[in-house]
Amino acid sequence: MAEPNTLLLVLLFLAVAAGWVLGRGAASRDVPEETAPPSQYYLGLNFLLDGEQESALKAFSEALAVNAETFETHITFGSLLRKRGEVDNAIKIHQSLLSRSRLPDVQKNQAHLELAKDFIAAGLLDRAEQLLKDLLELSEEHQLEAKSLLIEVFEASRDWEQARALTESQLGEVRENDPHQKSAAIKARTKLSHYYCEAAEDKESAGDLKAARELAERALDWTEESVWPHTILARLDQQQNQPRRAYDRLITAANMSPERLPEFAPQLIAISESVNCRDELSPLIATLLTRREDPQLRVILADEYRARGDDVKALEVIKQGLNKKPSSRLLMQALTLLGKEVATPEIIEGAQKLASRQSAYLCGVCGFHGPSFYWQCPGCKSWDTLHRPVR
Ligand SMILES: [Zn+2]
Repeated sequence: MAEPNTLLLVLLFLAVAAGWVLGRGAASRDVPEETAPPSQYYLGLNFLLDGEQESALKAFSEALAVNAETFETHITFGSLLRKRGEVDNAIKIHQSLLSRSRLPDVQKNQAHLELAKDFIAAGLLDRAEQLLKDLLELSEEHQLEAKSLLIEVFEASRDWEQARALTESQLGEVRENDPHQKSAAIKARTKLSHYYCEAAEDKESAGDLKAARELAERALDWTEESVWPHTILARLDQQQNQPRRAYDRLITAANMSPERLPEFAPQLIAISESVNCRDELSPLIATLLTRREDPQLRVILADEYRARGDDVKALEVIKQGLNKKPSSRLLMQALTLLGKEVATPEIIEGAQKLASRQSAYLCGVCGFHGPSFYWQCPGCKSWDTLHRPVR
């Protein structure tokens, strides 16, 4: 467990002091066992002064009387600890709240919800799932949050069937004609498509191509605008000797989401070779570039020209890119193409280092970055938010 931060301990110390004063004021309403025992308070203070932070934390948590006035302090402190990664201590605080029989149901349910969040943070998904299912039975006012957390649990445990069922039931409650709820409906539909794709890829990995195809096709029922189902179906087509169909699917996907083309460009190039259509790729990418300037697509287009031996055209495409939207990878390609006439090996190597230094992918929501592409961000768990930054 991480060492508790001194500032947090001081905050808790102040909370105990305030809670005890409030507890004394409310003594006439509380039973004696739930007012703060001063001995624990002084014990905690001694531990704090002696630098024994773990013991101080325990003593202060026990000293802070649980009543209507201090309940929120316990909840806030517990969630602060969880966010700092001190999940064990957060669990202790929330479990201690739940052991108070005199708390009103609404506060117990809130502590219940917090404990479920602790379990998710600790990776104790089975326990979180059970708590949240109980909470759905017990509490009307926590339905929305409990369902969202339960979906988080199903996603983390890759239980796509349960994630789908719950998301579909949430979608059923959304009034799609209401403009305020329209974005919630679109988000739920997109998520459903992702869940089907995840399940399809699981089946594909297990060798059950028939089930994989059915699931990927169902993903398209929820949103036609995602390229993910098309790339899965194209792989399945390829494996089932349908290269032409795979090629057509990927061309559709490229036209639909040119910004995702770098993710499946190697697949598209390989299939285009097998159906003798590789010559069609450069005009297609050039057309996509007229719709939206994209240095990644320029790199692919330049590579296509180079693969066909047309270095002059490749250099022209790169120069245009450096003019419109420069990136270190374009610069690297330009120097590589110009070669020894204008650049020494050291300069080319320097440009290569510069181009490879930046992370390949960056999440637009939480800033997570890394070398591999994921449909679900490993940092914030958002879907379809990893993009290649211009580099
Ligand atoms: Zn993220």
